[in-house]
Amino acid sequence: MTDPNCIFCKIVSKAIPAEIIYEDNDLISFLDINPVNHGHLLVIPKDHHPLLTETPDELLTKVFLRAKSLMKSLKEATDSDFVVLTVVGTDVPHFHVHLIPRFYEDGLAGFWPAKKYESEKQMKSVAEKIRKTI
Ligand code: 5GP
Ligand code: ZN
Repeated sequence: MTDPNCIFCKIVSKAIPAEIIYEDNDLISFLDINPVNHGHLLVIPKDHHPLLTETPDELLTKVFLRAKSLMKSLKEATDSDFVVLTVVGTDVPHFHVHLIPRFYEDGLAGFWPAKKYESEKQMKSVAEKIRKTI
């Protein structure tokens, strides 16, 4: 499954270059072109699935198990304090996982600006709304 307009499909087919770190039959990992910190990796299935929720379980398992292993390599290679795994997906609609080397002193703090619940009641109401959908 491939999408001719997808930038990540083009990286998979080698139509455009990328700094590839790992590749097998099902997935590929390469350096993010605009890293949060140097060494920021993306891990993507070769098949084009726009969203995590649309990606077959077997493939998801492969992506996350490979991400787990790459996180260890990345921590060692970058001598970072820890590696963050995140799924964003606001830019490229081809499911991918970000692996970002982090340093306690890198100034990124909590990464995303955090909001607060206005009250315990509001927090409970949000929690209840989510529970109802499970
Ligand atoms: P997201 O879709 O998760 O918000 O972000 C997509 C990520 O892909 C971004 O961090 C962006 O820097 C990266 N990216 C977008 N286009 C390219 C590209 O052509 N090559 C590489 N190596 N990374 C890209
Ligand atoms: Zn794609």
